[in-house]
Amino acid sequence: MHRKYSNELCPEMDGQEVRVAGWVEDVRKLGSIAFIILRDREGRLQVTAIKKEMGKERFTELITLPRESVVEIKGKLQKSAEARMGFEILPTEFKVLSKAEVPLPLGVVDKVNAELDTRLDNRFIDLRKDEVRAIFKVKSLVCAGIRNYLLGNGFVEVHTPKIVFAGAEGGATLFEVEYFGRKAFLAQSPQLYKQTLMATGLDRIFEIAPAFRAEPSDTVRHLSEFISLDVELAYINTSEDVMQVLENLVAATIEYVVKNGEKELKLLNCEVRVPKVPFRKIPHRECLEILKSMGWHGGVDIDTEGEKLLGEYIMQNYGEEFLFITEFPTELKRGTFYAMRKDENPELTGYFDLDYRGQELTSGGQREHRYEKLKTQMLENNLKLEAFEPYLKAFRYGMPPHGGFGLGVDRFVQKMLNLTNIREAVLFPRDRLRVTP
Ligand code: ATP
Ligand code: MG
Repeated sequence: MHRKYSNELCPEMDGQEVRVAGWVEDVRKLGSIAFIILRDREGRLQVTAIKKEMGKERFTELITLPRESVVEIKGKLQKSAEARMGFEILPTEFKVLSKAEVPLPLGVVDKVNAELDTRLDNRFIDLRKDEVRAIFKVKSLVCAGIRNYLLGNGFVEVHTPKIVFAGAEGGATLFEVEYFGRKAFLAQSPQLYKQTLMATGLDRIFEIAPAFRAEPSDTVRHLSEFISLDVELAYINTSEDVMQVLENLVAATIEYVVKNGEKELKLLNCEVRVPKVPFRKIPHRECLEILKSMGWHGGVDIDTEGEKLLGEYIMQNYGEEFLFITEFPTELKRGTFYAMRKDENPELTGYFDLDYRGQELTSGGQREHRYEKLKTQMLENNLKLEAFEPYLKAFRYGMPPHGGFGLGVDRFVQKMLNLTNIREAVLFPRDRLRVTP
């Protein structure tokens, strides 16, 4: 007999023999009868144990099981007006698959909210809560939505190495690894590889994979390991072409989540709006003016506070949640050695950030594909060209113009579901203080 999930059973199956399994969430004892709430992936079931039917010994064994023990139960389904689901299971046989220790390190049905740290220390139990699991079902839908859109638009999914010999996003956040007596690093992003692939004929690619950054400060939006969606496409004219792919991708992904994640979004009490394309674009210099008029006291770099204010600005004025900050000044992108500067005004790049609800979600733009210019920009950054030779080589034998972006998947989920901390959107988060579980 096949095991059934709770949502596969219904009162109309009255009288049928069924097999179910799950965690003992709660036991309510009323003398010679007891109600056991059994929880599985899909929901809850009521198992009604009757002493007279089961015999004293088996009855006692079942109803004294500690909470969160795992049992398998065979029994008869019986229609019942009193049971929450309209039916109950009368056990004929049961098997204790795993007995839980007492006390639990974290409650599953407790009313009091545990601290995030306690929850993360006991993540496997934390994930037994429906609303916590729902976050990861949404995350799975986000990835499915991304793949659905990109594969449908001629992109090829690739996998690039995570053990690398050169960084791309600045030395400060590199994790060093000892690699057979040599010094290697964990990849901060697939930047150099996805650009290299533009010289191959795989001219529209994407990757969904971990990226590693030794972030020096503790924030609610940075982790030392995160999932990055990286997209790169060749034969573009300007950064506009990249923004178009990005906005369509983001809108299609949110639509996919809304369509397929109705139950999860309801459980999480989240109203997710499918955005209209094209997204609003405001050049970086104009953003600075808007911010000044709002009393912001930053410099040229739009900080967290600035992003938040811009988010409020576009929400209040246009009712929108997405904003492209375009034409980043070269001054701010100098460290991004691969960013193309405008030929007509080298003080500007076509680089953009996409902000979602007042927080950076994506950075991207057109790359410098002209070998000499790229080399000059690298030297300006004091990079040792020899270390980048495998990358540079790809620019000497036919490299089409190209561009792309990196989007933080965990951050996307965080913003979509209004989670205060990015750690809530990661099963087992990694930060400065946490490498376990
Ligand atoms: P930020 O300014 O927020 O630190 P960044 O500009 O350093 O981000 P990029 O190199 O532009 O990050 O990376 C692309 C995207 O990857 C970011 O927009 C963000 O969504 C995500 N991301 C970057 N660093 C992290 C991190 N440490 N943890 C989680 N997501 C990150
Ligand atoms: Mg960025």
